Amino acid sequence: MHSQKRHFLFLLIISIVFNASSQEIKAEINLRSSKGKLYKKSLEVPKILENDEFKVVLNTSENALTQSDLDNNELKLRANTIFYHMNLAKKYFDNNYNFLEKPSKVTLRVNQKKLYDPNLHFDESEESRFPLLGATSIKENSFPADSIAPWGKETFFFLPRTIKVKSGIQVTGEVLDQKTIKNSIRKSLLTQNGIDLAADYILKGTLDQFDQQIHYQAILGSFLIPEIAPKLIKGFGKLFKRNIKIDVAMIPEIIYHEYTHHRLHQIFDTSGSALEEGYANYFAYKISGLSRLGDKAKGYIKGSRAKRPQKKVKYNFKRDLRKQKNLSGEFVYSVLIELEEKLNEIISASGDKVIANSLKKDAAGFYFLDKNSKIKGDFTGAVYQGIKMYTQDFEEEFLLKKTAENVFTSFGI
Ligand SMILES: [Zn+2]
Repeated sequence: MHSQKRHFLFLLIISIVFNASSQEIKAEINLRSSKGKLYKKSLEVPKILENDEFKVVLNTSENALTQSDLDNNELKLRANTIFYHMNLAKKYFDNNYNFLEKPSKVTLRVNQKKLYDPNLHFDESEESRFPLLGATSIKENSFPADSIAPWGKETFFFLPRTIKVKSGIQVTGEVLDQKTIKNSIRKSLLTQNGIDLAADYILKGTLDQFDQQIHYQAILGSFLIPEIAPKLIKGFGKLFKRNIKIDVAMIPEIIYHEYTHHRLHQIFDTSGSALEEGYANYFAYKISGLSRLGDKAKGYIKGSRAKRPQKKVKYNFKRDLRKQKNLSGEFVYSVLIELEEKLNEIISASGDKVIANSLKKDAAGFYFLDKNSKIKGDFTGAVYQGIKMYTQDFEEEFLLKKTAENVFTSFGI
C-alpha cells in the first residue's frame, strides 16, 4: 500500500514535469526588429509544426515535422521561422483583408531540393540542370499523372545553394535557346533594347512550351531573382563570376510574399503575372513594414540586393502582354507603393483601402482583376473602381481619381 502510494506520487510528479516541459518548447525564430533589423529570438513553438492552416514538411515528405525531427540547427531555424511567419501573415490578412478567401491547408516544404512539376508534383530528372533559388507557391492538383498522389496548396522553400552568376547566365541562355537571340542580347549589353528583346522572345518563343516555362520560373519566378535577371542580361560583364545564395526560409517578408500568393489565388490563379507578383510584394511590405524587401538580410542574401520600389520606372508596353511574367512585377510593386502614399496624402489611410478595394468583386460578383488582367485598363480600372467603392462624396472621388491618374502618368501608364 505504502509503496503503491509512492509509486503513484512518483508518476504524478513525472507527468507534471513532462507536461510542463512539453508545453514550453522553445526554439529560435528569425524576426525583424522595429527598425527592420533581422535577429534571432527564442520563442515558444508547437511540438508538431502543423495546425489547421499549415503543415511544415521536409523536402518531398508528407509528414509534419516535429521539433525532435529537427536535429540540425539551420533546418530547425528555417522550419520554425516559416511556420511562425506564415501564421502571422494569415492573421494579418484575417484582421485587415478578411474579404480575401482563406486558402485550404498549405503544405510548406523546407529544404526542398526538387523543382515543381505540374503533372508529377516533383521534377524527377536526375541532372540538376538549373539552379534552385528562391521559393515558389503552387496550387492544388486533384488529377495528376497516373500513380501520383494528388496534392493541395504548397510552397517550396528551396534548400539554399550557392550558384555562380556565370551559370545563371548560361541558364538564361539555355532558356532563350536560339543563338542569334543570345548574341543579340550580348551585343546590346547595357541597353534597354537587350531586355526588351529577351522579354519579346520569352513571350513569343519557346517559353510557351511548358517544360521550359517551369525552368524559367525556377530561375526568375522566385522572390529576389527577378531583380537580378534583367541585370544578368544587362550587366553581363560586370556581374560575371559573382556568387549568389539566398536562404528564402530565413527572411520574413519572403514568407509573407508566398502566403499572399495563396490568399490571392482566387483572383490570380497562382499564375505569376506581373500584377500578382506586384501585389505579393505590396503585402510583404504591408506586413513587414519594409518597403525595401530583403533589406539588411546580408547573411541570407549573398550577391543580391534588396528589392526596393523605384520611383521613375518607365512603363513599357511590351512588358504588359498577357503571358509576361516577372519583368514588370517590380513595376507594379512600385506603382502600388506610390499610389498608396499619394492617396494617403489626400485623405489619410485612403490609399490602403483603395488598393484593398481593387481586389474586390464588382456588383455582378466578378473580381475586378484576374490572371489575364493588363496594367493599362484592367489594373487602372480596378483602382478607379476601388476609389468609387471608397467614397460616396463626389468631390473626394474626383480628387482621389485625379491623384491616381497623376501617379499612373508619372509611371508612364
Ligand atoms: Zn511570387
